[in-house]
Amino acid sequence: MEKHELQSLIEDLHGKYQSLDEGEVATYIPELGKANVDDFGVCLVTSDGRIFETGDCDRPFTIQSMSKPFTFGMAIEELGQEKVLQYVGVEPSGDAFNSIELQSGTNRPYNPMINTGAITVTALLHARHGDRTFDAVLARFSAAAGRPLTIDEAVYQSECRTGHRNRAIAHLLLNFDMVHQEAEAALDVYFKQCSILVTCHDLAIMAATLSNMGRNPLTRHEVFDIRCIRDMLSIMFTCGMYDYSGQWAYRVGVPAKSGVSGGVMAVVNRQLGMAVYSPPLDMHGNSRRGIEVCVELAARLGLHAFDCLNFGSSFLKVVL
Ligand code: GLU
Repeated sequence: MEKHELQSLIEDLHGKYQSLDEGEVATYIPELGKANVDDFGVCLVTSDGRIFETGDCDRPFTIQSMSKPFTFGMAIEELGQEKVLQYVGVEPSGDAFNSIELQSGTNRPYNPMINTGAITVTALLHARHGDRTFDAVLARFSAAAGRPLTIDEAVYQSECRTGHRNRAIAHLLLNFDMVHQEAEAALDVYFKQCSILVTCHDLAIMAATLSNMGRNPLTRHEVFDIRCIRDMLSIMFTCGMYDYSGQWAYRVGVPAKSGVSGGVMAVVNRQLGMAVYSPPLDMHGNSRRGIEVCVELAARLGLHAFDCLNFGSSFLKVVL
């Protein structure tokens, strides 16, 4: 049988970028510094559940900041948009993910994709679920991936020991009444959510769950209420790729989120979830190979949300 066009494409891109020898693995969480710079996987999952993958798609790594859209979605679904937006904004910050700043006037974090906002979101979940917060997060992430996930205890301990900046953020938020008194307990959940282990394969299924309006395309489980998907995807579109989010929107043009462990996940609304794993990061904290692969996939398949030339031709013809 002839190889599917999408499978050939990702194998080509994997071969092309395997030799790209640029970027540095994150070391500010000491345990992340042990990542293998050669690990490289690319996985696409269509919204109707077809899987195309190549390279190291079964190698586990911690989800890190790619947890942020999912906890935000949980908060929107469980607490409602109005309540969540009292505590966190939807504006790109133009600053690093771990910057210690809040919006003037409201004292809200700029958005939920940076640490101030993500810790606030986790604290909102903690105010609701108490000691069971992490179990609720893990259950939801597992449903999105379609299998039971676990945490990397060593990365969690490493971040607990060295996460002084995040601790400072939690206390700043406490000072401004943006998190409740159990800021430390909420922070502990945040460290754990970042330490959830996923593979590139899992991440593409999680992205495909969002592309499929909240329903996991393989298990058919409705993981997120369809009403919170728009909130999740629009924040990913404007704020998901650190201080490269504007360029990403311009060049790739789909909602996405990356993490300092070297993962990137992207969502082509109602069509496709994509994930790339490769630990060396560029100056913005995005996977160096991950960016290249996604830029080229978007160009070759006409994935950009506003692509007028390709839309409806190459990609839709191949997949749908
Ligand atoms: N756990 C990391 C931190 O909060 C996540 C950072 C990231 O992936 O952007 O510092």
